[in-house]
Amino acid sequence: MPLLCSICKDKRALLKRPKTGTPVCKDCFYWAFECEIHHTIQTANLFKRGEKVAIGASGGKDSTVLAYVLKTLNERYDYGLNLFLLSIDEGITGYRDDSLETVKRNQQQYDLPLKVLSYQDLYGWSMDAIVKQIGRKNNCTFCGVFRRQALDRGAMSLGVDKIATGHNADDVAETIIMNILRGDIARLQRCTAIITGDDPSGIPRVKPFKYTYEKEIVAYAYFKKLDYFSTECIYAPNAYRGHARAYLKDLEAIRSSTIIDIIHSGEMMSVKEGVKMPVQTKCKKCGYISSNEFCKACVLLEGLNKGLPRLGVGKTSKVNQQLKQVNDSKSCECQNKSTKCCLNNVPKTAPSSCPNRSKNCENHDAKFDSPSVKDNQMDKTTKICLTNSEIL
Ligand code: SF4
Ligand code: ZN
Ligand code: ZN
Repeated sequence: MPLLCSICKDKRALLKRPKTGTPVCKDCFYWAFECEIHHTIQTANLFKRGEKVAIGASGGKDSTVLAYVLKTLNERYDYGLNLFLLSIDEGITGYRDDSLETVKRNQQQYDLPLKVLSYQDLYGWSMDAIVKQIGRKNNCTFCGVFRRQALDRGAMSLGVDKIATGHNADDVAETIIMNILRGDIARLQRCTAIITGDDPSGIPRVKPFKYTYEKEIVAYAYFKKLDYFSTECIYAPNAYRGHARAYLKDLEAIRSSTIIDIIHSGEMMSVKEGVKMPVQTKCKKCGYISSNEFCKACVLLEGLNKGLPRLGVGKTSKVNQQLKQVNDSKSCECQNKSTKCCLNNVPKTAPSSCPNRSKNCENHDAKFDSPSVKDNQMDKTTKICLTNSEIL
């Protein structure tokens, strides 16, 4: 006797919903999945009628399903939104070039306008070139900071009112865990918000998938046969997030409500009055929103362009100290005063009598270039398999 769908009690159940563990047929799964996202959009007032919305599109499962579902709901419930696809080309050969092909097909399939912005055009550096320069340890710091700003710049050029991203419930729960482990109060408060950056200087970002399980997004894409790109980035060594993710998956296997429970816990945490929080201001160089004199992207770029790739990587206090050293531009006391190099502006070739020659230059530290994190560590932990227990 086949197991019947717990919703319609008529058709044969095809999967157990990862979120609830209940058996459902394909049609009821689609209906429940879409209704829950519609409910999130409505209750959180994510959009207003007539708004222009850019969907951050990477070609991956989350953003592909987001584009498909937003288009479907926009038509079904007459949201009155003007939807666009916005993609960032980080310049990662063998990864982003292929995934962008998927986005271009999605553009045709969903009939949505597409804009692509590249790191190379915006910053003069591709991720391939950055990794060549900095090695494979802090590449995601550069990539994340640059992508955030690139999305904003793309959104501004499209004149959109909001950016919708495919961050799902697992991503939010993972980020909460990471911020707790790091004691990052400011980020902890921000990461649970369903709308961020809604201050006058920024374009608000919304997360319609905040309560949507990653496994359900995969199941939806799988049953709907959506065209998405599933390969991991070749430079994905983000071990810290990988561990948080593995931990979360272990907990989810024991109790499926873990993901939502963590999100609810994160939402209930609030910062005590009187705790000093970063004050947002504008970057003196590019005008982008920043909690320091210069935004992180400008500091990282400065480092890349000056051959000091570690500038901007790490704690703000250390970064400020490094910046001060660069800006002070102490002249070298050796004869070779005109040539500058490293944090102390001392040429590597400076005579050993030069007092600055002996100082440790972090940017010439050989250890820096050796990958200390195993490649593809993320691959093992991010692959979502729809196991036999979920597909009936
Ligand atoms: Fe960029 Fe790192 Fe993501 Fe690759 S894994 S796209 S380098 S942030
Ligand atoms: Zn059913
Ligand atoms: Zn800046």
